[in-house]
Amino acid sequence: MSRNPSISRRRFVGSTSGLLLAGALQTGSVAEEAVEDALAIRGGPSAVPGGTPSLPIRWGEPEREHLEALLRQNTLFYWRGPQTEQLAERFREFCPLKYVHNCSSGTAALHIAVAACGIGPGDEVITSPITDIGTVIGVLYQQAVPVFADLGANTYNLDVADVERKITPRTKAIIPVHLTGNPCDMAALKELADRHNLVLIEDCCQAWGARYHGQPIGTVGHFACFSLQNSKHVTCGDGGMVATNDEDYGPLLQRFGDKGAGRGLREGGGFHAFATNYRMSEPQAAMAAAQLTRLESIAATRAKLGDLLSEKIAHIPGIEPHQVHPEDRAVYWFYMFRFRPEAFRYSRADFARALRSEGVAAQAGYIGVPLYGEPVFQKHGFFAGRWPVREFGLTEMDYSQTRCPEAEAILQTGIRVTIHEAMTEEYILAAARAIEKVARHMAA
Ligand SMILES: *Cc1c(COP(=O)(O)O)cnc(C)c1O
Repeated sequence: MSRNPSISRRRFVGSTSGLLLAGALQTGSVAEEAVEDALAIRGGPSAVPGGTPSLPIRWGEPEREHLEALLRQNTLFYWRGPQTEQLAERFREFCPLKYVHNCSSGTAALHIAVAACGIGPGDEVITSPITDIGTVIGVLYQQAVPVFADLGANTYNLDVADVERKITPRTKAIIPVHLTGNPCDMAALKELADRHNLVLIEDCCQAWGARYHGQPIGTVGHFACFSLQNSKHVTCGDGGMVATNDEDYGPLLQRFGDKGAGRGLREGGGFHAFATNYRMSEPQAAMAAAQLTRLESIAATRAKLGDLLSEKIAHIPGIEPHQVHPEDRAVYWFYMFRFRPEAFRYSRADFARALRSEGVAAQAGYIGVPLYGEPVFQKHGFFAGRWPVREFGLTEMDYSQTRCPEAEAILQTGIRVTIHEAMTEEYILAAARAIEKVARHMAA
């Protein structure tokens, strides 16, 4: 085939009998460029001919074994349940903490942590505005006040300097969210938390198998909170894990996950605090325990593929790869690069659409707006349209005044690329070529 970029479409059509022309002819508007190099969206050949590999069914033998064992049990209740105990044991292989409690969701895990460390009405908790709303639901239910800090431009994680600016005498905790499984700057956050006597609650929901400077994710802060929801690296449909080494908070995890009941205690039983029912049953624990046997391979594969994508797109003008500290293992729940609008003639949506045509699973953005931009925050309507702590003067927080400029820019200029464990290095190399191709065609 001709490599002459100035060849016209007509001459090209006339000089080949290529199969790829079928697509080109349908779209009709091929410019003065070689069809073989044209964007797939304009009828050229796709850069990833096989398209994006799909993620096959994620369960099989290990899950069958656990579920069969479950059928021989005479109870499906978590307390002293064999599946729950195995789940805790396997969890400790990834997150070696003394007190481990399974619960119904990542949201529940975070709520249990917030309650266990005594966060209460009017207390402030600093966290990320780009996260699942489950990060702050427990904070609000304890009548505390989420305070949003801005993010690093390419890590999408808490900017420690801005966290420090947001600290007030009411601040009680920081919830760093390891977004997409990219570890936050935990040494700096821990130093800040220690200096101000704050609790550090790690939201590891997207970070199964990640490592901060070689250390298992969740082991720097006071609490590690994980989700086992269906979209996460490992799952039981819905579930969560909360863990700590803290001798004061540890014994409270079970209570705050189970209506306040201190089970198995000779002394100190009975109800000393109020809590909801966040229990996980044995069938979920069986699935989760089996899923954890797959985790190291899932995490290692995603880490390798995401890092490879960064390496291969780092040189492309107008594209900023996902930034991971070289000593960390990011596990890419998804990959996100930033698109510099001034470097391109087309919009981010056009860029993402062109990538999909090339065969790359890509989407413009992540959540639509930062959490504080959601109507429930703008209207302070958390409890059936009302917000008691503000009505009673325990906070003056006004989310309509909150601004995190970098977080807002990230949501407007991020392009998300799917990464999963069924992908190969070949696919990632082809995806990188597709990004380069689209960037070259759309460059300003
Ligand atoms: C999924 C997720 C949660 C909430 O987990 P659920 O199990 O859905 O309640 C919280 N934080 C982050 C960062 C998440 O990705």
